[in-house]
Amino acid sequence: MRKKIVAGNWKMNKTFDDAYELVEAIAEKMETLAKPEHEVVICPPFPFLEMCGDMSQESFFAVGAQDVSEHESGAYTGEVSAAMLKSMEMDYCIVGHSERRAYHNESNEAIANKVKQLLANDIRPIFCCGEKLPEREAGTQFDVVEKQISESLFGLSADEFANIVIAYEPVWAIGTGKTATPEQAQEMHHHIRSLIEKKYGHDTADNTTILYGGSCNAKNAKELFANPDVDGGLIGGASLKADDFVTIIESL
Ligand code: PEP
Repeated sequence: MRKKIVAGNWKMNKTFDDAYELVEAIAEKMETLAKPEHEVVICPPFPFLEMCGDMSQESFFAVGAQDVSEHESGAYTGEVSAAMLKSMEMDYCIVGHSERRAYHNESNEAIANKVKQLLANDIRPIFCCGEKLPEREAGTQFDVVEKQISESLFGLSADEFANIVIAYEPVWAIGTGKTATPEQAQEMHHHIRSLIEKKYGHDTADNTTILYGGSCNAKNAKELFANPDVDGGLIGGASLKADDFVTIIESL
């Protein structure tokens, strides 16, 4: 059975003390929440990974990074490799976030390389995909998402693909307060699962966790997560407030 996951993407927010306070508050509230079929992942900025990793030892959450280099090692100033993340015992890593695609010109090919680096180091990629507003208005959202997924993921073997978590994040909903309707989310998640089924078969598709991301918050999470193909969320802004984040986790 596929896991239900709530992952918090802190993006470039918090200083060390604020980050400590937030993760401590989440950990305290979460002591009563653990369910084996649910997973909570916190993805802080790189400098706080070690602290969050240490805190996670006594709590129920896993820790993930927000990005990784597409290269194995070497002269890539400022980059962080998958082997470095593994040596810090990271479980997950976000790849292909729309902000990286937009501000760092990440191509589907570069994202495919990042996915390979992560899998080679036993880190589960949280692969983000999603259409921009003009693409949805033109009715091309299904083609856009299919291209992102097929070019970055469908070169993987079925065994490799089994470690992928997909996050559908319509770009027009990220940080805008404009959420996809539960029907729009379900429709796209169902489409994504059908693509996986066509490529890898029913069991792989059925076992793949597909998250929704884009202005998901404490008020709308329950309705979004109630859809049969929505297996949780990738949460940006609302993951920065302990109460909201925990309410979202409780909505699983
Ligand atoms: C995100 O950045 O992955 C995200 C979903 O952001 P927000 O929840 O703030 O829209």
